[in-house]
Amino acid sequence: MANSKFEYVRSYEVNDACLPNCWIVVRLDGKSFHRFSDVHSFRKPNDERALRLMGRCAMRVMAELSDVVIAYGQSDEFSFVFHRRTAWFGRRASKLMTHTVSLFASSFVFHWLEFFGETVLRFPPTFDARVVLFPTDRCLRDYLSWRQADCHINNLYNTTFWALVQKGGLSPSQAQERLKGTMTGDKNEILFSEFGTNYNKEPEVFRKGTTLIWQKAEKKTVTQLPKTQVSRLDELGSASTYLSKSQKRHRAVVALNVDIIGEDFWQEHQEILAD
Ligand code: ATP
Ligand code: ATP
Ligand code: MG
Ligand code: MG
Ligand code: MG
Ligand code: MG
Repeated sequence: MANSKFEYVRSYEVNDACLPNCWIVVRLDGKSFHRFSDVHSFRKPNDERALRLMGRCAMRVMAELSDVVIAYGQSDEFSFVFHRRTAWFGRRASKLMTHTVSLFASSFVFHWLEFFGETVLRFPPTFDARVVLFPTDRCLRDYLSWRQADCHINNLYNTTFWALVQKGGLSPSQAQERLKGTMTGDKNEILFSEFGTNYNKEPEVFRKGTTLIWQKAEKKTVTQLPKTQVSRLDELGSASTYLSKSQKRHRAVVALNVDIIGEDFWQEHQEILAD
């Protein structure tokens, strides 16, 4: 229909290209996953199958949209950080966001069986998404720290709440009442003195969430990494717009459950924020 009399309507489309040189973050979040988790009998407070499925979907996204330099996820959300110089889709926010969220949602259904085998998927899950731009490395790191701190706060609350309900025999509203106004130390104390649980010994995937990064695929080092999921995605990444061909080759996505708030992680992985 090129040059038809109708084509003028194209001018109604707005230019939503992201500002140059900013880090582009797409964060998605499951819609009504409180209900979704009930309907599909998620284990409380943490269903590891669901967390691993979320991580699997995020690996898919990263492999496909390979200008993503780091992704961080917890609960029903994942954040994807596109390199500040990505040229994907002319940096159009709507394109970046919809490709990310639709691939994630279809992957969630596509991989459901691998993680939830016996549990039937009762309805199609949906995810919302937003784009946020960060002009400095500091802002980007603070953003990721904010999400990981949120993971910690929610997980400590949920772990204590469900201990009171499942082991302490309280009703959900009694447990809620009991936790009103408590600080971090109080919850740690309840867990330890009433339920013999040392919160710091809870699995790291629950306490720290999941961080995905690219790693040079010296195949040996990748598979030897302890406590990591490894996705063999060698030589994917052909779609990257800011890396040279040789840089793209032989990379693999690895999943880590580590602290990303402190300096150590960023010292160890300086390539993430590098130009
Ligand atoms: P909204 O549509 O506003 O996002 P929501 O119900 O999804 O509503 P969130 O704040 O996103 O609310 O919280 C997600 C909820 O999903 C959690 O509170 C928890 O009940 C549930 N959930 C998500 N992942 C898991 C998991 N791995 N194990 C157990 N429950 C989970
Ligand atoms: P892009 O990612 O840019 O959208 P695309 O390959 O999806 O690339 P489109 O311009 O959207 O390109 O065109 C969709 C193409 O998909 C068609 O050109 C056709 O080849 C194929 N296609 C879509 N629907 C059908 C269909 N029902 N039957 C046969 N071919 C189809
Ligand atoms: Mg929400
Ligand atoms: Mg949600
Ligand atoms: Mg959420
Ligand atoms: Mg098309």
